[in-house]
Amino acid sequence: MNKGGRPKGFLTKPEKYQYSKAYLRKVRSLQKKRDKEEEAKRVAEEEARKLRDAHNIYLNRTTNFNSEEVLGILNEDDNMNVEDQQLVVDENNVSGDEHVPTDDEDIELEPELLIEESLYDNALRELKDLYIDTRMTRKQGNGILNILRLFSTKYPQVFRPFPKDIRTVMKAPTYSKAKVVEPGTYIHTGVEACIDRIFTTNPHLPIPEQLVLDFNIDGLPIAKSSSSSVWPIQCRIYNIPTCKPFVVGIYHGMSKPKNMHEYLHDFVDEMKRLVDEGIIINDKSLLVKIRAFICDAPARASIKCIKGHSGYFSCEKCKQEGEKERGTTMIFDKKTDELRTDEGFKNKDQIEHHTPGLTSPLLQIPKIKMVTRFPLDYMHLVLLGIQKRMLRLWINFKKKPWSMTPTNIKLCSEKLVFLSQYIPSEFSRKPRSLDELPRWKCTELRLFLFYLSPIILKEFIKPDYYEHYMTFQVAMTLLAREDLFCDDNIELAQNLINIFVPRLAYLYGREQIVYNVHSLLHLPADAKKFGVLDNFSAFPYENNLQEVKKSIKGYTKPLEQIVRIQYYRLGNEFQKAKVNIKYPQLVECRINNKAVFKNFTLSANTRDSIAMLKNGELVKVLNVLKKQGEDCILGEILNKTDEEFFIKPCAATVLDIFVIDMSLPTRRQYISLSSIKIKYLLLPFVEPKWVAIPLMHAHLS
Ligand SMILES: [Zn+2]
Repeated sequence: MNKGGRPKGFLTKPEKYQYSKAYLRKVRSLQKKRDKEEEAKRVAEEEARKLRDAHNIYLNRTTNFNSEEVLGILNEDDNMNVEDQQLVVDENNVSGDEHVPTDDEDIELEPELLIEESLYDNALRELKDLYIDTRMTRKQGNGILNILRLFSTKYPQVFRPFPKDIRTVMKAPTYSKAKVVEPGTYIHTGVEACIDRIFTTNPHLPIPEQLVLDFNIDGLPIAKSSSSSVWPIQCRIYNIPTCKPFVVGIYHGMSKPKNMHEYLHDFVDEMKRLVDEGIIINDKSLLVKIRAFICDAPARASIKCIKGHSGYFSCEKCKQEGEKERGTTMIFDKKTDELRTDEGFKNKDQIEHHTPGLTSPLLQIPKIKMVTRFPLDYMHLVLLGIQKRMLRLWINFKKKPWSMTPTNIKLCSEKLVFLSQYIPSEFSRKPRSLDELPRWKCTELRLFLFYLSPIILKEFIKPDYYEHYMTFQVAMTLLAREDLFCDDNIELAQNLINIFVPRLAYLYGREQIVYNVHSLLHLPADAKKFGVLDNFSAFPYENNLQEVKKSIKGYTKPLEQIVRIQYYRLGNEFQKAKVNIKYPQLVECRINNKAVFKNFTLSANTRDSIAMLKNGELVKVLNVLKKQGEDCILGEILNKTDEEFFIKPCAATVLDIFVIDMSLPTRRQYISLSSIKIKYLLLPFVEPKWVAIPLMHAHLS
């Protein structure tokens, strides 16, 4: 607008200023672009020169060709480190490729064969890794390919032509054709095809006698602004412990699949065949067994075609009829009823449990057990369910006997944040304040349940409520810790849960005994069948779901993008884990040397410095060093007191939790790395007392 009669095109002061700034920015960016182009040109010319030299060397030679020499020339400015160079040479040797001559051979070679193997394939492999690891866009990937194509067109005798599109490099499997599954689309990649790829791309993997498979089915929203979501079917070979979950089929649509029969059709068809006939890998016929379907409650209800958690007969393990409290909440506050059986499910002996008119498509799979093979997953049930519910009770309700006062909530949050400095590096997330509770992730809830809650809550909730919570905390610890896991402790956990659930109704009100809380009563039975809680938790699938989400780089054809990247990963995961490292080992670092064990790390950093020795003593690491040729730590032996940190429902020392007195004198000594048993977490309690708690999964294996 032309205000105040200012002539058109006349600029006010700020406009002028802006204009000149923008102009300068533009000039600078153009200059930068030009510099970049010149630099790229220079690099390209330099590379071309090296290639020419390499090629000339090759052509001048007829005998005793040494591939290392070419690689040396190609890398004369040391862009690749020694390790990388060795990798290239080693891979040529390992592959046993007959086109790679050794010094003893006297063969005349075709140039393209040699250079192709050592550079072309390697470049593509590196590009694939880079594309996945850095989550670059398709445009960036194609940009790199364009640069590579400059070489392949200029030196056709050296390089095979590089493809134009990064999608060709990622090589979509041939079966990835999407079909309509209302109201979206579905791609079935196939259980057999994925397993076959795992074994063919990883020939070093030992082939077991049978394949024990776990499955997970869950929905995942992929866009913030719309209801667009995917529903992957994930599989994991349970008896190959290094095997991560992989996607065997995936649906995409604006809402969940309308008809489970349609959605699961290809999967069920394939499983029918695999369970009956097995899979042939390297001419060896392997039996296929289904161990478990590990899903959250809504997904279980969908695929089992049963009533959801708000239904009257929704308990999946017993036939108890729920009651509506205040017209909305479905509660299950009686003891467990008659247990459901696989046979009973098949015959629909309690018809109200099933969605009217629907039968689960999974029942077509031979030998499927619809009750016992569908364990309750503790990530959703215990962490996101009960633990989060209890935290909400303490902080959300005002003036209830169990409520924390606003001052206490603030102090509690401050303490959580304060404790983060003592959380070992094995934990990916550090505790956050209670204001952020709605956004706490499962891993944060796990950290709270197993490590922080006994200390934090002792200070901030009333003794009755603390004692009650600890029955739950100890029961979960008994079911989660490998070193405590045995029939007696499962029974003890069951007894504690049998106390915890009715007392929850007594202390907090009957309306708290919802589906999740009632289901907790059935959790020890699943642990007895499947092992420690992490043996049948949704954690690995949840992690892979995040990978699935990351692999979507554009809104068109998300299924094809996911399938392509997941398929590529199948061949890649195991290769990365191939390197054999001997543990424990001393790793020299700039500030603190580290003692690296298979499942944990120790160093002089406060958070990573506490461990228990095989003789039961607790030690604080002061330094990690070599002494007389042996890797060892210089440690301070800590003083355990006789004090029990808690005595109910069992003494803390039974769970290897100790109170340490830091004011007493300590003695220093050198300790061999092989004397270390398990890593500990040390948290301040009441000065000078500290509490030492053993880390799960940090045992010397
Ligand atoms: Zn039940």
